[in-house]
Amino acid sequence: MSSTSLRCIGLTGGIGSGKSTLGNMLQECGLPLIDADAISRQLTSTGGAAIEPLQEIFGADCIDANGALDRDHMRQLVFSNQDAKHRLQQLLHPLILVQIEQNIQVLANKGNSLVLIDIPLLVESSHWRDRLDRVIVVDCEENTQVDRVVSRSRLSPDAVRQIMAHQASRHQRLAAADIVIYNNDISLDELREQAKQISL
Ligand code: ATP
Repeated sequence: MSSTSLRCIGLTGGIGSGKSTLGNMLQECGLPLIDADAISRQLTSTGGAAIEPLQEIFGADCIDANGALDRDHMRQLVFSNQDAKHRLQQLLHPLILVQIEQNIQVLANKGNSLVLIDIPLLVESSHWRDRLDRVIVVDCEENTQVDRVVSRSRLSPDAVRQIMAHQASRHQRLAAADIVIYNNDISLDELREQAKQISL
Protein backbone atom coordinates (compact mmCIF):
# COMPACT_ATOMS: atom_id res chain seq x y z
CA MET A 1 0.00 0.00 0.00
CA SER A 2 1.36 3.45 -0.85
CA SER A 3 1.24 6.40 1.51
CA THR A 4 -1.32 8.08 -0.79
CA SER A 5 -4.09 5.97 0.77
CA LEU A 6 -3.22 7.32 4.19
CA ARG A 7 -4.67 10.69 5.13
CA CYS A 8 -2.28 13.01 6.95
CA ILE A 9 -3.70 15.32 9.63
CA GLY A 10 -1.42 18.13 10.81
CA LEU A 11 -1.56 19.30 14.41
CA THR A 12 -0.01 22.60 15.38
CA GLY A 13 -0.15 25.50 17.81
CA GLY A 14 2.19 27.98 19.45
CA ILE A 15 4.48 27.11 22.33
CA GLY A 16 2.44 26.05 25.36
CA SER A 17 -0.84 26.00 23.44
CA GLY A 18 -1.39 22.36 24.39
CA LYS A 19 -0.76 20.63 21.06
CA SER A 20 1.24 17.77 22.60
CA THR A 21 -1.47 17.33 25.23
CA LEU A 22 -4.19 17.18 22.56
CA GLY A 23 -1.97 14.95 20.39
CA ASN A 24 -1.61 12.47 23.24
CA MET A 25 -5.37 12.52 23.80
CA LEU A 26 -6.05 11.84 20.12
CA GLN A 27 -3.48 9.05 20.28
CA GLU A 28 -5.40 7.57 23.22
CA CYS A 29 -8.44 7.65 20.91
CA GLY A 30 -6.52 5.36 18.54
CA LEU A 31 -4.90 7.78 16.09
CA PRO A 32 -1.26 7.00 15.27
CA LEU A 33 0.91 10.04 16.03
CA ILE A 34 4.17 11.25 14.49
CA ASP A 35 5.87 13.91 16.63
CA ALA A 36 8.16 16.21 14.61
CA ASP A 37 9.62 17.67 17.80
CA ALA A 38 10.57 14.23 19.11
CA ILE A 39 12.25 13.49 15.76
CA SER A 40 14.15 16.79 15.99
CA ARG A 41 15.26 15.98 19.56
CA GLN A 42 16.42 12.55 18.45
CA LEU A 43 18.43 14.02 15.56
CA THR A 44 20.09 16.53 17.90
CA SER A 45 20.70 14.22 20.86
CA THR A 46 24.00 12.48 21.56
CA GLY A 47 24.95 10.41 18.50
CA GLY A 48 22.09 11.90 16.45
CA ALA A 49 22.49 12.34 12.69
CA ALA A 50 22.50 16.15 12.98
CA ILE A 51 25.30 16.45 15.54
CA GLU A 52 28.28 16.22 13.19
CA PRO A 53 26.93 18.70 10.61
CA LEU A 54 25.84 21.02 13.44
CA GLN A 55 29.37 21.06 14.79
CA GLU A 56 30.78 21.69 11.31
CA ILE A 57 28.44 24.62 10.69
CA PHE A 58 28.25 26.26 14.13
CA GLY A 59 31.43 25.09 15.84
CA ALA A 60 32.06 23.07 19.00
CA ASP A 61 30.27 25.66 21.18
CA CYS A 62 26.89 24.44 19.97
CA ILE A 63 27.50 20.95 21.40
CA ASP A 64 27.23 20.31 25.15
CA ALA A 65 29.43 18.11 27.36
CA ASN A 66 27.26 15.06 26.59
CA GLY A 67 27.65 15.47 22.85
CA ALA A 68 24.10 16.74 22.33
CA LEU A 69 22.96 20.05 20.85
CA ASP A 70 23.26 22.82 23.45
CA ARG A 71 19.70 24.13 23.07
CA ASP A 72 20.14 27.28 25.18
CA HIS A 73 23.25 28.26 23.22
CA MET A 74 21.55 27.62 19.88
CA ARG A 75 18.38 29.48 20.92
CA GLN A 76 20.40 32.57 21.78
CA LEU A 77 22.34 32.30 18.53
CA VAL A 78 19.30 32.04 16.25
CA PHE A 79 17.46 34.83 18.09
CA SER A 80 20.28 37.25 17.44
CA ASN A 81 21.32 36.02 14.00
CA GLN A 82 18.87 35.49 11.12
CA ASP A 83 21.51 33.78 9.01
CA ALA A 84 22.21 31.23 11.76
CA LYS A 85 18.47 30.57 12.06
CA HIS A 86 18.26 30.00 8.32
CA ARG A 87 21.26 27.64 8.28
CA LEU A 88 19.88 25.67 11.23
CA GLN A 89 16.55 25.26 9.46
CA GLN A 90 18.27 24.29 6.20
CA LEU A 91 20.09 21.53 8.03
CA LEU A 92 17.34 20.20 10.30
CA HIS A 93 14.15 20.53 8.23
CA PRO A 94 15.15 18.11 5.43
CA LEU A 95 16.35 15.54 8.00
CA ILE A 96 13.06 15.84 9.93
CA LEU A 97 10.98 15.62 6.74
CA VAL A 98 12.77 12.45 5.58
CA GLN A 99 12.12 10.81 8.95
CA ILE A 100 8.46 11.87 8.96
CA GLU A 101 7.96 10.47 5.44
CA GLN A 102 9.60 7.20 6.50
CA ASN A 103 7.29 6.97 9.52
CA ILE A 104 4.26 7.73 7.32
CA GLN A 105 5.30 4.95 4.95
CA VAL A 106 5.63 2.48 7.82
CA LEU A 107 2.12 3.37 9.05
CA ALA A 108 0.72 3.13 5.50
CA ASN A 109 2.33 -0.28 5.03
CA LYS A 110 0.65 -1.44 8.23
CA GLY A 111 -2.73 -0.52 6.73
CA ASN A 112 -3.48 2.66 8.68
CA SER A 113 -5.82 5.09 6.96
CA LEU A 114 -5.13 8.15 9.10
CA VAL A 115 -2.08 9.63 10.82
CA LEU A 116 -1.73 12.67 13.06
CA ILE A 117 1.51 14.65 12.65
CA ASP A 118 2.40 17.09 15.44
CA ILE A 119 4.35 19.85 13.67
CA PRO A 120 5.19 22.91 15.81
CA LEU A 121 6.36 24.94 12.78
CA LEU A 122 3.66 23.77 10.38
CA VAL A 123 2.52 27.30 9.49
CA GLU A 124 6.08 28.61 9.24
CA SER A 125 7.05 25.97 6.67
CA SER A 126 5.64 26.06 3.11
CA HIS A 127 6.31 22.32 2.78
CA TRP A 128 3.15 21.24 4.55
CA ARG A 129 0.50 23.15 2.57
CA ASP A 130 0.09 20.46 -0.08
CA ARG A 131 1.07 17.47 2.04
CA LEU A 132 -1.68 17.53 4.66
CA ASP A 133 -5.32 16.62 4.24
CA ARG A 134 -6.45 18.67 7.25
CA VAL A 135 -4.90 20.97 9.83
CA ILE A 136 -5.89 21.11 13.50
CA VAL A 137 -4.76 24.27 15.29
CA VAL A 138 -4.69 24.41 19.09
CA ASP A 139 -5.29 28.01 20.05
CA CYS A 140 -5.17 29.87 23.35
CA GLU A 141 -4.53 33.35 24.74
CA GLU A 142 -0.91 34.50 24.72
CA ASN A 143 -0.88 35.02 28.50
CA THR A 144 -1.99 31.42 28.91
CA GLN A 145 0.92 30.26 26.73
CA VAL A 146 3.37 32.22 28.89
CA ASP A 147 1.89 30.95 32.17
CA ARG A 148 1.95 27.33 31.03
CA VAL A 149 5.50 27.38 29.72
CA VAL A 150 6.87 29.26 32.74
CA SER A 151 5.31 26.76 35.11
CA ARG A 152 6.66 23.72 33.26
CA SER A 153 10.17 25.02 32.42
CA ARG A 154 12.98 27.21 33.74
CA LEU A 155 12.25 29.91 31.14
CA SER A 156 11.30 33.42 32.28
CA PRO A 157 8.13 35.10 30.96
CA ASP A 158 10.33 37.36 28.81
CA ALA A 159 12.16 34.38 27.33
CA VAL A 160 8.84 32.72 26.48
CA ARG A 161 7.56 35.91 24.84
CA GLN A 162 10.81 36.08 22.85
CA ILE A 163 10.20 32.56 21.54
CA MET A 164 6.60 33.45 20.71
CA ALA A 165 7.77 36.51 18.77
CA HIS A 166 9.79 34.20 16.52
CA GLN A 167 6.83 31.88 15.89
CA ALA A 168 3.87 32.46 13.55
CA SER A 169 1.19 34.74 14.98
CA ARG A 170 -2.17 33.44 16.24
CA HIS A 171 -3.77 35.08 13.23
CA GLN A 172 -1.46 33.26 10.76
CA ARG A 173 -2.09 29.94 12.47
CA LEU A 174 -5.85 30.34 12.59
CA ALA A 175 -5.85 31.22 8.88
CA ALA A 176 -4.26 27.82 8.16
CA ALA A 177 -6.73 25.84 10.29
CA ASP A 178 -9.44 23.45 9.16
CA ILE A 179 -10.28 22.69 12.80
CA VAL A 180 -9.59 25.02 15.75
CA ILE A 181 -9.49 23.78 19.33
CA TYR A 182 -9.64 26.71 21.75
CA ASN A 183 -7.68 25.37 24.71
CA ASN A 184 -8.14 28.23 27.15
CA ASP A 185 -9.93 28.18 30.49
CA ILE A 186 -10.93 24.57 29.96
CA SER A 187 -9.90 21.59 32.07
CA LEU A 188 -7.90 18.68 30.72
CA ASP A 189 -11.08 16.58 30.97
CA GLU A 190 -12.93 19.11 28.83
CA LEU A 191 -10.07 19.08 26.33
CA ARG A 192 -10.24 15.26 26.26
CA GLU A 193 -13.98 15.49 25.53
CA GLN A 194 -13.24 17.80 22.59
CA ALA A 195 -10.58 15.39 21.34
CA LYS A 196 -13.19 12.62 21.28
CA GLN A 197 -15.61 14.84 19.31
CA ILE A 198 -13.17 15.84 16.55
CA SER A 199 -14.39 14.48 13.26
CA LEU A 200 -11.59 13.73 10.83
P1 ATP B 1 5.44 23.12 23.26
O1 ATP B 1 5.35 23.78 21.94
O2 ATP B 1 6.24 23.91 24.19
O3 ATP B 1 5.87 21.69 23.20
P2 ATP B 1 2.66 22.39 23.53
O4 ATP B 1 1.82 23.24 22.65
O5 ATP B 1 2.94 21.01 23.05
O6 ATP B 1 3.98 23.16 23.91
P3 ATP B 1 1.75 21.14 25.94
O7 ATP B 1 3.09 20.62 26.31
O8 ATP B 1 0.75 20.19 25.43
O9 ATP B 1 1.93 22.36 24.91
O10 ATP B 1 1.09 21.95 27.14
C1 ATP B 1 1.84 22.88 27.89
C2 ATP B 1 1.51 22.71 29.36
O11 ATP B 1 0.17 23.14 29.57
C3 ATP B 1 1.57 21.26 29.82
O12 ATP B 1 2.11 21.24 31.12
C4 ATP B 1 0.11 20.82 29.82
O13 ATP B 1 -0.17 19.83 30.79
C5 ATP B 1 -0.60 22.13 30.18
N1 ATP B 1 -1.96 22.21 29.62
C6 ATP B 1 -2.31 22.17 28.32
N2 ATP B 1 -3.65 22.31 28.19
C7 ATP B 1 -4.16 22.42 29.44
C8 ATP B 1 -5.49 22.56 29.97
N3 ATP B 1 -6.57 22.65 29.20
N4 ATP B 1 -5.60 22.62 31.32
C9 ATP B 1 -4.52 22.55 32.12
N5 ATP B 1 -3.25 22.42 31.70
C10 ATP B 1 -3.06 22.35 30.35
